[in-house]
Amino acid sequence: MSDAEPRPSTDFIRSIVNEDIRTGKGDGRVHTRFPPEPNGYLHIGHAKSICINFGIARDYGGKCNLRFDDTNPVKEEQEYIDSIIEDVRWLGFDWEDRLFYASDYFGTLYEYAVKLIEKGKAFVCDQTPDEVRECRGTLTEPGRNSPYRDRSVEENIDLFERMRAGEFPNGARTLRAKIDMASPNLNMRDPVMYRILHASHPRTGDKWCIYPTYDFTHGQSDSIEGITHSICTMEFEDHRPLYDWHLDALGIYHPRQIEFARLNLTYTLMSKRRLHQLVKDGHVTGWDDPRMLTLCGMRRRGYTPEAIRNFCDRIGVAKADSVVDFSFLEHCLREDLNRRAWRMMAVLRPLKVVLTNYPEEKTEELDAVNNPEDEAMGTRKVPFSRVLYIEREDFMEDPPKKFYRLAPGREVRLRYAYFIICDEVVKDANEEIVELRCTYDPATRGGDAPDGRKVKATLHWVSAEHALDAEVRLYDHLFTKENPDEAPKGQDFTANLNPDSLEVLSGCKLEPSLSGAKSGDLYQFERLGYFCVDSKDSTPAQPVFNRTVTLKDAWAKAQAIERK
Ligand code: ATP
Ligand code: MG
Repeated sequence: MSDAEPRPSTDFIRSIVNEDIRTGKGDGRVHTRFPPEPNGYLHIGHAKSICINFGIARDYGGKCNLRFDDTNPVKEEQEYIDSIIEDVRWLGFDWEDRLFYASDYFGTLYEYAVKLIEKGKAFVCDQTPDEVRECRGTLTEPGRNSPYRDRSVEENIDLFERMRAGEFPNGARTLRAKIDMASPNLNMRDPVMYRILHASHPRTGDKWCIYPTYDFTHGQSDSIEGITHSICTMEFEDHRPLYDWHLDALGIYHPRQIEFARLNLTYTLMSKRRLHQLVKDGHVTGWDDPRMLTLCGMRRRGYTPEAIRNFCDRIGVAKADSVVDFSFLEHCLREDLNRRAWRMMAVLRPLKVVLTNYPEEKTEELDAVNNPEDEAMGTRKVPFSRVLYIEREDFMEDPPKKFYRLAPGREVRLRYAYFIICDEVVKDANEEIVELRCTYDPATRGGDAPDGRKVKATLHWVSAEHALDAEVRLYDHLFTKENPDEAPKGQDFTANLNPDSLEVLSGCKLEPSLSGAKSGDLYQFERLGYFCVDSKDSTPAQPVFNRTVTLKDAWAKAQAIERK
């Protein structure tokens, strides 16, 4: 049976798995699951959980199930189920034929509940939600027993059956575990197992009008699927005694629950409730808004599954709460994009340059390197002609000392092309600069001067006649605060929304090789960052690019300073 081998443990969960394999627990099998509730889209925090669960299964030659924890029909929708399936697949994980739903087990869970009633370990309670709360006690005071706690097994069975048959309205009764109203752990004070809810379920329709709680569902579902390690986040630590109690009371196969600290990221909110609010109130354009740290938002922004998986592996797994620096996520992204992205030239805020000594009709095809990190990616031809665009901010009429780019009378290099000198600045009636008149040096073709003279700057450019027009969207953090929840008194996180998180630039000029760019294609626009074709709004006639990330690696820079 035992096909798993202990492996060098890189984190505390893998140490536990190793130990269980060594001691022969669970027949040496390793079987995990990722159990999302389909009440929203997955975010980067879920990616951590996915990478842990599927990663451990992969590392030990085990299995990992995808299981929808769909016990609350009021908040769950097919749209979310579909998106979760798409996102886990996109991240690169495979559950083979093991796609499950907690709702598949409603029948079995009902039988389990009956079994606990028969054992005298569960009872039907007629207390209102308010009465339940009142009797619950506090962290320092014990609770009080429900007056319905000592009903006979027969009466409990009868009432539970009638709950199921739809005889009672929502909230009229619950089924509760009979544990201990004086337990120091509030979760153990006769917790609710079943509630009445006359609501249609996305999968079971109107078959049920009572639904099991998360606590009564999760462990039993793990047990039914033969899960060995039920890995979840720290907020379930206090639920573990209840997880264990249900399984022991039922006397069924007992997986082991292990908790780890959830991922927190600076400038980012992960709670689905808040993400819902951002979408509903129109602060973003949808769950897949490229500023959202949902997996679909990140995909649209240009994140790769490799970058996200790498990030999740490198942040590690621990029990202590921590906040990961957003710049580290971007660092992992750049590492991946640097390897795979083609370099291109694009001008976001164009300034016209006329080379007065370049022939009117002439066009040259110059060689440009596709990726200096990877020679195999080859070279391409870039057209050059008399009228070009450069970046507006690469020119200053009256430059300060440290500005080395183009200025009147100054010489710079145009990437892959020639040296040029600015001779004249043309302005319109409002004193706005509209054109530069420059001369090029034909002897510097390819970007080097035969006489060895140097220039201090190399600019990117695009030939005006050949340029492709595009819209480019630049993004910044959605929130201005590292902790978006830290809002002024009386306000919520929306007070911290960054009004400049999206900047739309139209009339950007791209080199013509970008005309074939397809949805999701990734590029580095030289000196500007990594960009991808927007999967929703881009058309061949009107291309739209998203900036995935800039080139400035704040994380690497901070590391370098720390090392000094
Ligand atoms: P949220 O708090 O964002 O609403 P959730 O925990 O309610 O998320 P579930 O669908 O229940 O969302 O989560 C599925 C799995 O993902 C759970 O095992 C949960 O512990 C894990 N998970 C959720 N958020 C994070 C996070 N930030 N870091 C790591 N794991 C997470
Ligand atoms: Mg949850």
